[in-house]
Amino acid sequence: MASKITIAIDGFSSTGKSTLAKQLAKQLEYVYVDTGAMYRAVTYFAMQNGYITHDYFDKESLVHSLPFIRLQFEFKPELGFGVMVLNDIVVEEEIRTIEVSGFVSKIAAVDEVRTKLVEQQQEMGKGKGIVMDGRDIGTVVFPNAELKIYMTASATTRAQRRYDELIQKGDDVSYDEVFQNVVERDYIDTHRANSPLVKAADAIEIDNSNMTREEQLALVLDLVQNLNN
Ligand code: C5P
Repeated sequence: MASKITIAIDGFSSTGKSTLAKQLAKQLEYVYVDTGAMYRAVTYFAMQNGYITHDYFDKESLVHSLPFIRLQFEFKPELGFGVMVLNDIVVEEEIRTIEVSGFVSKIAAVDEVRTKLVEQQQEMGKGKGIVMDGRDIGTVVFPNAELKIYMTASATTRAQRRYDELIQKGDDVSYDEVFQNVVERDYIDTHRANSPLVKAADAIEIDNSNMTREEQLALVLDLVQNLNN
């Protein structure tokens, strides 16, 4: 059997990272970790405690509360991946709203938040056989990952994907609002001082604006195969 590797998938929001990561994990029988869900869960915690609103951010209180934030993934065989659990409560749906998306990049720019989550992510990936997606996986979390993928797609393609997803879930959002959020998060994620989103020098870039999910999966499975040869 091929030896297990670490697969790091980074890129802008709504580039289909999680779709690809889940497909790979299933195919290779690897563990999938959605690090965006972890930043979203911390954001949800901050919102619930009133640490962040549209015109206010009490960073200090959030930082003091970090030891009381417990994040786990609970594997659901019927879904094929783990759902996000925050302090023993499943928050998988709550963390996917446009409100959480609106605040998450601010929370993810806090050094102490990143330190805590990166530590936990490194621990989860110690045994390899992992597919992790996010913004800093190939650069900070697993700089020695055997395979690094950097995904891109145009902002309009990504906003349309996210909008379709939210509408399908029954959320009341406008395309403009979603597009704005995508552009704003791109900006914050690439300009923050700590671990900004950048393509690792040894990452393979995939622009999937005009690719089907199947084509994308086949391409990356080939890359994995080549590593094993
Ligand atoms: O991947 P997703 O879009 O759910 O991530 C939500 C947000 O979490 C990103 O816009 C980014 O601000 C932050 N994030 C991060 N580092 C990661 C994963 C996500 O800063 N590794």
